[in-house]
Amino acid sequence: MGADQSFAGRGLSPDALGPTITIGEILVEIMAVERGKGFLEPIGLTGPYASGAPAIFIDQCARAGGSAGIVACVGDDDFGRMNIERLARDGVDVSAIAIDRDYPTGSAFVRYRADGSRDFVFNIGKSAAARLSLTPQARALIARAGHIHIMGTAFAIPVVADMLEEAVGVIRSRGGSVSVDPNMRKELLQHGQTAERFARAIAGADLLLPSGNELFLAAGVEGDETAAVEALFSRGVSEIAMKRGERGASVFRADGSRFDCAGFAVTETDPTGAGDCFGGAYVACRRLGMAPDEALEYANAAGARNVTAQGPMEGAGTIAELDAFIASTRRRT
Ligand code: ATP
Ligand code: MG
Repeated sequence: MGADQSFAGRGLSPDALGPTITIGEILVEIMAVERGKGFLEPIGLTGPYASGAPAIFIDQCARAGGSAGIVACVGDDDFGRMNIERLARDGVDVSAIAIDRDYPTGSAFVRYRADGSRDFVFNIGKSAAARLSLTPQARALIARAGHIHIMGTAFAIPVVADMLEEAVGVIRSRGGSVSVDPNMRKELLQHGQTAERFARAIAGADLLLPSGNELFLAAGVEGDETAAVEALFSRGVSEIAMKRGERGASVFRADGSRFDCAGFAVTETDPTGAGDCFGGAYVACRRLGMAPDEALEYANAAGARNVTAQGPMEGAGTIAELDAFIASTRRRT
């Protein structure tokens, strides 16, 4: 394992400082077996599968050997119990998952169309997932955390944005670090203070994990990747892990170094969760002391392995499983 000296200053804090945490939704996902349009007649379904972007991220982080915890809320039902048991089994600290007696666990029904686009029926806004708060258990987890990973979409929900900003303050003050997956949609930025809060989170991040156009949205620079990366470095970001879907991924660092990784040639069964598994593996590996190119290799493998399995986090792998995947899987050229 290549030791890395970049923990000082604005790098990621070492794992020993305390767990990586996320704050946000835990869901179950129930998927149509056959492709087609929507849910307007009886169809075959499969699930429930454990889901929710922050949950997928933190599950992969724990499976990769990083210490990990989540602040979330589920209902007092089997969907909630399934998620808690799953995360606990994979090594996630579940002490700050609240159980709401009045609302059911959040859910997402998803059906793929023939062209790969998706139809959803969500129950999130009126579910336990939306009943997040800084409980005493949440405050205790935040107080011992060493790193926080933020999903850009969380800034569209004011109460979650408040919790994230408070947690960032606490974690920073004890020498912890911050990563942001700017998976934000332009439409969401138009509401209230969302755009300013999003911009503040980006500028305050040590590590960004954008995919596709998110790099340009985060940088406020259109079209030119190098210019966008430079703009983000000038705001204090020190590392950018860029996700490129089946084409693999790249890491850019403020010291001028760059690493590229070709995608693995896999058959995509279920693309949901690739970005979150990539992120969970990357953050865990970096905080465990791996150099950026080694962490990138594992993250690239974690994203690719996850798309081969049905279910948003069913392909999340341990380091041993990722080593086996890397050894046995061809790369796209
Ligand atoms: P999500 O759809 O979960 O939001 P994302 O857009 O954030 O994902 P992607 O670029 O789709 O992120 O996937 C993350 C990483 O997973 C990629 O950079 C790559 O390493 C790997 N990956 C994703 N899809 C594939 C694929 N079809 N083949 C090989 N690797 C893949
Ligand atoms: Mg994404």
